[in-house]
Amino acid sequence: MGFHLGSLIRLGLSISENIRAQQEIERARALEAQAKSEALAQSQRYQAETASFKRSVYEQKIARESVAVECPNCGSTNTRIRLGSAGCCAYCGTAIRVSTQGIAYVASPLDRTQAQAAEDIKQKSGQENDERKD
Ligand SMILES: [Zn+2]
Repeated sequence: MGFHLGSLIRLGLSISENIRAQQEIERARALEAQAKSEALAQSQRYQAETASFKRSVYEQKIARESVAVECPNCGSTNTRIRLGSAGCCAYCGTAIRVSTQGIAYVASPLDRTQAQAAEDIKQKSGQENDERKD
């Protein structure tokens, strides 16, 4: 009878050992999952910061390289165009080409098409930026 009781106690201890071991494994798994999700969140934060940094560097570069031009057609001065590129007057829509030296002149009909296309792309990407802010 004593032998059986001893066996039962040993069995009970071994079961509780197993339960403890199982709990340890579950805790370790939970910690691992937490570490993984923190690492993922960290890398997503890093990617978002990098993208935002690249965008602001690009915007600064465009701002540096663009100049306020006086429209050769209407004289309006509220249009900025990148040096060596073309754009449309914000007031009258005339296509303006700006030389790399910053001289503005009325663009040819071909330039107008290109300038309008560039303007459309700029507006479209502007709208997308606005949507992202919401
Ligand atoms: Zn104009």
